Amino acid sequence: MNVYDSARMADVLAPVGYEATEDPDAADLVILNTCHIREKAAEKVYSELGRLRSKSADLAAKNRPAPMVAVAGCVAQAEGAEILRRAPNVDFVVGPQSYHSLPDLVARAAPRFETATRRRLSDIIETDFPAESKFDHLPPTVAQGPSAFLTVQEGCDKFCAFCVVPYTRGAEYSRSVDDVISEARILVERGAREITLLGQNVNAYHGIPSGDGKEGLAGLIRSMADIDGLKRIRYTTSHPTDMSAALISAHAEVPALMPYLHLPVQSGSDQVLSRMNRRHSSADYLAVVDGLRRAKPDIALSSDFIVGHPGETEEAFEQTLALIREVGFAQAYSFKYSPRPGTPAADADDQISKSDKSERLERLQELLNEQQMSFNQRSVGAVLPVLFDRPGKQPHQIAGRSPHMQAVHLDCADGAEADSLFGTISDVKIVSAHANSLKARLVAAEPMLSAQAFREPANA
Ligand code: SAH
Ligand code: SF4
Repeated sequence: MNVYDSARMADVLAPVGYEATEDPDAADLVILNTCHIREKAAEKVYSELGRLRSKSADLAAKNRPAPMVAVAGCVAQAEGAEILRRAPNVDFVVGPQSYHSLPDLVARAAPRFETATRRRLSDIIETDFPAESKFDHLPPTVAQGPSAFLTVQEGCDKFCAFCVVPYTRGAEYSRSVDDVISEARILVERGAREITLLGQNVNAYHGIPSGDGKEGLAGLIRSMADIDGLKRIRYTTSHPTDMSAALISAHAEVPALMPYLHLPVQSGSDQVLSRMNRRHSSADYLAVVDGLRRAKPDIALSSDFIVGHPGETEEAFEQTLALIREVGFAQAYSFKYSPRPGTPAADADDQISKSDKSERLERLQELLNEQQMSFNQRSVGAVLPVLFDRPGKQPHQIAGRSPHMQAVHLDCADGAEADSLFGTISDVKIVSAHANSLKARLVAAEPMLSAQAFREPANA
């Protein structure tokens, strides 16, 4: 979601003369788009601000201008004035609901930024939750390449005991179907062949249906599938309690909907799930998995896990391992519980010790890594359609994603072959499997009439 938000920030700043640069040293404006979900992510912001501060001091010593510095995202939302206090080199702070104000904020910060001492006349903090949606004020999106993100839903009303999202991103909000479809069409015109619909609770999507009455995320996905040129649809992140029957059926009936789902369960213990206020049991989760597998037998599943949530006993933790063994995940993300200020779990008096959290995380990840490796190994020998959307790490290499979201690398004869495959969905044979990727050789390149579209986006 932050990657998408960053792209939208570039869109909104383009008309006032900014463009994104790959080279941080060349930047006139640095926006740190931040995450507050765990303490480590939040603390990174301050170390990055420290680094920027010493770089600015070096530049000042050479009489060269330092970049304007802004903090955006959920740390900005949660800590606002505290950031300006701890990091005097920050020119302004902007929360996730206010990106459309960026040109105005840059203009307001300019006078202070231009003085040598950067003395603050008044703090510039834009972290209100405006009544009007920022989506109504953002300019049309620019090209994102063959695989694009599109935010359809934001915020969360679920209030899991451990989570800051309902506080930093605010109440649940869905964009209208028409708005989403028109943005999707623009993305496709500009080269997207795959779109991932985004939301903190994307399957709680309830956007106003279009004329034909299709409703919910399932309806949106069906409308997306009608867009010419859009070959792949994904959505993330889903909550188990919002996996409606209609959405599960869409997996069986919409060929463009890819056979992969990130469906976080967090824990396999009912007692911990209840402490987490997740509103479902482990059996409810297993029933959803069962329904998905009946609808789409080859669906690959991914999840998030938290170890060491307050009240998690060794026995409860072992129930999580048991659930993992029962489901069999293609991949997963796992975290030590991190107390977040203002959330109910942070105040619980049965916190788990650091050493228990570390030990449990290690055991959990060992099992998840085994499952991921064996899932990847089962792909060896298969012929899979891969959407090539980025250069590989090695010269003449190209990389993309299998239908099951596995990263696939292909060594090409030369740079021209790699270029010709970019943006295609080509058939490859998987020759070897690694923990986080597959290696392949080309079976049949997709003939692509519109490959040029990626090199010369319509708005360039
Ligand atoms: N809306 C999604 C998750 C969004 S947050 C859902 O409900 O599944 C992404 C992930 O971060 C969560 O799934 C959870 O595993 C992890 N997370 C959130 N808060 C956390 C915390 N306080 N400590 C550790 N991990 C956390
Ligand atoms: Fe956080 Fe997800 Fe729970 Fe919402 S549903 S509170 S985003 S973990």
